[in-house]
Amino acid sequence: MIPPTLLSFNFPYLTGRELGYIGEAQRNGIMAGNGLFTARCHRWLETYSGSRRALLTHSCTAALEMAALLLDLEPGDEVIMPSYTFVSTANAFVLRGARPVFVDIRPDTLNLDERLIEAAITPRTRAIVPVHYAGVACAMDTITAVAARHGLRVVEDAAQAILATWRGRPLGALGDLGAYSFHETKNVHCGEGGALLVNDPALAARAEVLRDKGTDRSRFERGEVDRYTWQDLGSSFLPSEISAAFLLAQLEEAEALTARRLELWRHYHGALAELEAGGSLRRPIVPADCGHNAHMYYILVADRTARTRVIEQLREHNIHSVFHYVPLHLSPAGRRLARAVGDLPVTCRYADRLIRLPLWIGMTSSDVERVAEALAIIMATQPRFAE
Ligand SMILES: *Cc1c(COP(=O)(O)O)cnc(C)c1O
Repeated sequence: MIPPTLLSFNFPYLTGRELGYIGEAQRNGIMAGNGLFTARCHRWLETYSGSRRALLTHSCTAALEMAALLLDLEPGDEVIMPSYTFVSTANAFVLRGARPVFVDIRPDTLNLDERLIEAAITPRTRAIVPVHYAGVACAMDTITAVAARHGLRVVEDAAQAILATWRGRPLGALGDLGAYSFHETKNVHCGEGGALLVNDPALAARAEVLRDKGTDRSRFERGEVDRYTWQDLGSSFLPSEISAAFLLAQLEEAEALTARRLELWRHYHGALAELEAGGSLRRPIVPADCGHNAHMYYILVADRTARTRVIEQLREHNIHSVFHYVPLHLSPAGRRLARAVGDLPVTCRYADRLIRLPLWIGMTSSDVERVAEALAIIMATQPRFAE
């Protein structure tokens, strides 16, 4: 028997049209930002999301930094978010002098627990940042209602959530602001890239200025002013046309590639049902309100020791699996720069037990079967999963 080759955790998808579009950008004679491909990406994102204004950035991190600038945060202001997230969710606000306030997550979706938000609000609270983990929506009705009651802004970290919905509405378009990532590990990518959705029309004009070094250059380019000048705070947040051209090729296929990811996701979900019923692992839970985008397939195992063993043994079966976030409140910077509300028991329990399985376009059903068969062997000797 030929030993199976390593099944990698991720492989960035290519539609095949990226290089053609980059060639077209070159022939257009604009390689810097805000050219024709950027405009086409903006139109695609605005049409898809219904957002007032979509602005490409060079990363989701940059989009979150723009969001923090737009909210005019001051030192000492507080921003409520989960600890179970990527560092950029917190860093973007810390850069403005604000303090992340970590609230625990729900055991089913691993998203911010909306029932705990109100108790974390203080006179310094300015915003809530729901993170849609694995492209599964947070409880946006409760979150937006709490925000409205207390005069807070909502910034969605929708890094993983393009083409995912909540009650049929696109994630990223439900808060005042939303941030997408087009990093190569995300469903739709251009290597490194992102976008800010400006859903509150009152923030749209300023967002354009902040993104372009604090100038009104975009208005100049539209012929609305006869020269452009320094207007406000800002930085260079825009990606080049090379990235935008690459991204457009991906956006144009986003629906189809999400459908293909969903097929793989459902295949995993079916193939692992028996192991879950047998009690050795838990599969992802997707509430009825959520139309997810198959960003990730993960399993939860008994504890941290089991996780290490399962990852090692999958590796012996030539399958590359990975764990995910170290909770921010336990990290050196998190301890120094942020505050947790209580000791976040759910975050601590679940972060230690999560394993992400390979899921990328180009994987076959037999690859999924191979992972499921390996897990059936491996899990037989592991302790049982308990919530
Ligand atoms: C990937 C990711 C980011 C960062 O995205 P970049 O485009 O790499 O800056 C932020 N938040 C979450 C939840 C992510 O998954």
